[in-house]
Amino acid sequence: MPELPEVEVTRRALAEELTGDRIVGVVVRSWKLRLPVPAELPAILAGRTLREVGRRGKYLLLACDGGWLVIHLGMTGHLRVLPSPMEAGRHDHLDLLFSGGRVLRFNDPRKFGTVFWTGDDPSAHPLLAEMGPEPLQNGFDGEYLFTLSRSRSVAVKQFIMNSSVVAGVGNIYANEALFRSRLRPSRQSRSLSPDECEALVATIREVLTESILKGSTIMNFGVAEEPLRYHPLDFLVYGRGGKPCFGCGGMLEEIRLGNRSTVFCTNCQR
Ligand SMILES: [Zn+2]
Repeated sequence: MPELPEVEVTRRALAEELTGDRIVGVVVRSWKLRLPVPAELPAILAGRTLREVGRRGKYLLLACDGGWLVIHLGMTGHLRVLPSPMEAGRHDHLDLLFSGGRVLRFNDPRKFGTVFWTGDDPSAHPLLAEMGPEPLQNGFDGEYLFTLSRSRSVAVKQFIMNSSVVAGVGNIYANEALFRSRLRPSRQSRSLSPDECEALVATIREVLTESILKGSTIMNFGVAEEPLRYHPLDFLVYGRGGKPCFGCGGMLEEIRLGNRSTVFCTNCQR
């Protein structure tokens, strides 16, 4: 699943490739995504210029004259910029045709992605309005997390994966950040000390930032024919249940927590 770093790498690539270009056409091959693609979308977008590409959580915000095209990649979605309108494959659901011939193509085998237009500030849209602070921006710090954790009787891993607490920390990065901050995923969030909250914020930022940097250097997005390569980090715990811990050599444990795969070291994480 694309997580925040992959969405951010996509955002940077789109901004670099397409800012200032005009949309001259829209091809919708599949109207049924997680939410139906609005029937009026092609008419709305045609003729507008892409001014800026922003991001809120895992939503991409393509600012055009007079509004925003909002895209969420869902479970399996990805975007490519093609040099020309090449033949579409089975899961290529939507194309934005740009002046100059290039195409922004949305592909999504499982169709859990979302594409919609809004003329109002997208951060006020019901899908985005309840979202907590951005993990890489100033509003997210140890004090914020500590204060919020006092009233929550929930495992710390589920706490940080709750998008109303902090935007866009998915399963992979929650596993990795908890290992790096030596916190056991099942710890009650209200048992965290201020120092532990500080450390957790720092490691969440660290894993996201490292992944964004690494992703930006290995992806040749410009004329990508291949899907973006997701999750470029070498994971310390994610997907490594039963394998040796890089910290102590003991065997990593894998459990289900909130129905998500959770890997940790019983020795290193308390
Ligand atoms: Zn260990």
